[in-house]
Amino acid sequence: MRCMKEENMKIYNTLSKKKEEFIPIEEGKVKMYVCGPTVYNLIHIGNARPMIVFDTVRRYMEHKGYEVNYVSNFTDVDDKIIKKAIEEGVDASVISERYIAECKKDMEAMNVKAATTHPKATEEICGMLDMIGTLIEKGHAYVAADGTVYFRTRSFKEYGKLSHKNLDDLQGGNRSLLVTGEDQKEDSLDFVLWKPKKEGEPYWESPWCNGRPGWHIECSVMSKKYLGEEIDIHAGGEDLVFPHHENEIAQSEAANGKQFAKYWMHNAFLNIDNKKMSKSAGNFFTVRDISEKYDLQVLRFFMLSAHYRSQLNFSADLMEAAANGYERIVTSVSNLNYLLENAASATMNEEEKALLKEAEDFVTKFDEAMDDDFNTADAISAIFELVKFINTNTSAESSKEFLEALKAEIIMLSDICGLIVEKKEEMLDADIEALIAERQAARKEKNFARADEIRDELLSKGIILEDTREGVKWKRA
Ligand code: AMP
Ligand code: ZN
Repeated sequence: MRCMKEENMKIYNTLSKKKEEFIPIEEGKVKMYVCGPTVYNLIHIGNARPMIVFDTVRRYMEHKGYEVNYVSNFTDVDDKIIKKAIEEGVDASVISERYIAECKKDMEAMNVKAATTHPKATEEICGMLDMIGTLIEKGHAYVAADGTVYFRTRSFKEYGKLSHKNLDDLQGGNRSLLVTGEDQKEDSLDFVLWKPKKEGEPYWESPWCNGRPGWHIECSVMSKKYLGEEIDIHAGGEDLVFPHHENEIAQSEAANGKQFAKYWMHNAFLNIDNKKMSKSAGNFFTVRDISEKYDLQVLRFFMLSAHYRSQLNFSADLMEAAANGYERIVTSVSNLNYLLENAASATMNEEEKALLKEAEDFVTKFDEAMDDDFNTADAISAIFELVKFINTNTSAESSKEFLEALKAEIIMLSDICGLIVEKKEEMLDADIEALIAERQAARKEKNFARADEIRDELLSKGIILEDTREGVKWKRA
């Protein structure tokens, strides 16, 4: 952790369309909410972009000394989840729980830290009923004849402030809804807060009808519960600016009477053949697909090699370039480890001290890039400069202290990007099996301390043991 230099950090705020200095609501703390995925399938690498980008924002803020309360939800009630549940003949919760578990596996494999809290919409219904009740009381929402509750969009005077849309233009575009006569809305701009259940769907009781929440109210409520009425950063992909985030602002600010979020951050799309990657268009690769060909650290490197507000086109060539780039850092660290094993002397000489001072420039460059609205592309360039410096200025003559200081620096910068660049040596199958045999022998002799020691040693090397009826089985973590 390093000293706080908060006055230098700039964030592009969708609300003002400007880069603004980051000033937290509470000194030393960051309250951050990132809209999470709807869980009805394995996540695709487009969904992985906000996960990796905002995890990196979080890591950088933590590196600067902030305590970050990071909340990211799972939307676990939705038409697509229900459709899949009906297709499989199971409860909707079976589908959502399955894909939450799979999503968490993917996040871990991409080295995306677990959020401080990962709330699920279905566990927050009471809060939603409360907020909808408040909105009705305050005249910002109304109940239609069939029990649907709508937000009265025109009652929120600042509607459109995030997406920079004009209410009257929006109205014009949607007028056809009013003409159909089937619509029970007062105004075509109004959106659903609560809707009646349909046959076979999950539902909750409410004062208005048995039903389920609209999508937007979920995030307003979960953000309020876990972070409070006013938060520092609200984030997600740019497709969420309108209507999702615009509607969240309307709901939260109308209900709480306070500014919902100070900074709104949005990542640009991950494209394929210059079109947004999406499940509905069918032009996607899942994170699992990619993991069959690449270490997911390469995917992470690929995502961070562009600024988060630039569109990024996925291609095999760019992934190969990312694999090479990532490997350059890994190789440099591995060379340092090799030199460290036989370092010529323990402490730094004067020349090394001067070199180490020079190397600090790369950290400064890295920080400057990250302070400038998290420019990870330039931050990675600073890591490459450090790699070049290390490769040029270290040798079998280098001292242990010097090598360790350089290694700490490169690992610190990589870690802020969430890149694991020090590869743990893989144990050979034969070595694992020999240790397992020794453990069995120790157990027979009732030497449980040794048996446990062996299990822990294997675990520290990523080998998990399972005692089964057929004997001991092992797998790599
Ligand atoms: P969804 O499950 O569709 O609600 O998406 C979860 C998150 O992934 C949201 O923040 C989306 O904005 C984001 N997202 C979805 N597709 C892409 C894409 N192709 N590129 C970047 N972000 C995306
Ligand atoms: Zn949301």
